[in-house]
Amino acid sequence: MEFTAEELWARVLEMMRGQLQEQTYRTWLSGTVAQSLTESEILIEVPSDFHVEWIEGRFGGLLAEALQQLLGRPLEVIFRSTEEASPLAIPAIEVVSPTVPAVRAAEATASVPRPALNERYVFDRFVVGNNNELAAAACRAVAESPGRVYNPLFLYGGVGLGKTHLMHAIGNAIHGSDPTRRISYVPAEEFTNDLVASIQAGTMAEFRRRYRQMDLLLVDDIQFLKGKEATQEEFFHTFNALHDARKQIVVTSDRPPRDISGLAARLVSRFEWGMVADIKPPDYETRLAILLKQAVHDHLTLEPDVLDFIARSCTSSVRELEGAVIKLLAYSSLTNQEITVELARTGLKGTFGSTPPPGAARLSPGRIREIVARRFDVREEALSSKRRTRDLTVPRQVAMYLIKDLLEYSLVQIGNLFGGRDHSTVIHSIRKVEEALATDDEFFRMLEDVRDEINRPE
Ligand code: ADP
Ligand code: MG
Repeated sequence: MEFTAEELWARVLEMMRGQLQEQTYRTWLSGTVAQSLTESEILIEVPSDFHVEWIEGRFGGLLAEALQQLLGRPLEVIFRSTEEASPLAIPAIEVVSPTVPAVRAAEATASVPRPALNERYVFDRFVVGNNNELAAAACRAVAESPGRVYNPLFLYGGVGLGKTHLMHAIGNAIHGSDPTRRISYVPAEEFTNDLVASIQAGTMAEFRRRYRQMDLLLVDDIQFLKGKEATQEEFFHTFNALHDARKQIVVTSDRPPRDISGLAARLVSRFEWGMVADIKPPDYETRLAILLKQAVHDHLTLEPDVLDFIARSCTSSVRELEGAVIKLLAYSSLTNQEITVELARTGLKGTFGSTPPPGAARLSPGRIREIVARRFDVREEALSSKRRTRDLTVPRQVAMYLIKDLLEYSLVQIGNLFGGRDHSTVIHSIRKVEEALATDDEFFRMLEDVRDEINRPE
């Protein structure tokens, strides 16, 4: 062939890039490097073992097709991980943190106390996914030019999704670039308590001065002010004073401003002046990326299938995700067993909203076919029929894929389950599903949903 390994791989990547979501592409493929090419195979280096498994599993089919198209013949792709590079080379998580100049302690003026911020909550440790992209970008922008871009910045979302983390990250970044900035992080409840105490002690003037001299005010969980009229009134004035002076205000809540019942209309409208950004629960890929990042930070090595199991099972919040890993580590050291999927299944039983069944014994091809058929609103028997209308081929392919994936039946067995189809038809079906999984987010979510249903106890 007239290609060098690099040229060939560059073309393959170009084709993949056209077919995949940008984020997916960046996460899994942008860090791959072609090493060598022979008549029969191309050797590709990837950042970690985890990448090897993931790329083979999810993009193997697509890569094979791309190569076939380029060369007019099949070529095997061999992946090799450059493990030592992995901790730094997980590109999933592109973090554009503002460059933080080294803080010279001497320069930090004595009159400005170090803000009470959690040093772990920085942008570098925050994984950006589809669920929080806008919020994260807004926070970065605010950290780079406080008081200038979005003021106020209002973040909202469910519990454990990273609001507090982002807030601290803004504070840490600003403190890092200028330690003389006055920064206050205050949960709304504490603001209330502080206010009440100041009223009782007759030190309201001091209270006002303290808050109004801030360069950055971070108020967490503002929904706690609902129904507290006096606090809202005071906060309203603080807000105005800071805003007029072009000082940055960041507020979080569990819901958007106008859904906070018992919040004064004038505060609601103030909150809507700036940017309102929501954070949703992380999708599967983001959950995995978070787990990976956590593993790297905590120097843990968890097998890919264990990470996959946790990411699949734990769907509601990042806090739950982190909790699961800690619990699993504890369980493993208590029982002195290695961490495997089996151990995770036992150790984490009851931890998640919907835990996969202990042991897959109940799982049968029949159950999978039944659930898939119901999902697509077709009769189960029709999955075995010879009819090839689209409303039947898609559920048929999905059912085949899941039976292969969850029960590891052979292609021939699967063919038999579906009216005696031959194994090449089964391969084709599974490929189709893999392809759709890699390119179509909606399909991916649908399949995750079906999986959840299959795993749910009856
Ligand atoms: P919230 O304030 O929304 O309830 P937190 O900010 O307290 O949530 O987040 C809960 C935990 O999850 C924290 O330990 C935080 O570091 C972690 N976390 C949340 N989102 C992310 C993310 N996108 N990347 C990394 N860690 C995250
Ligand atoms: Mg919080």
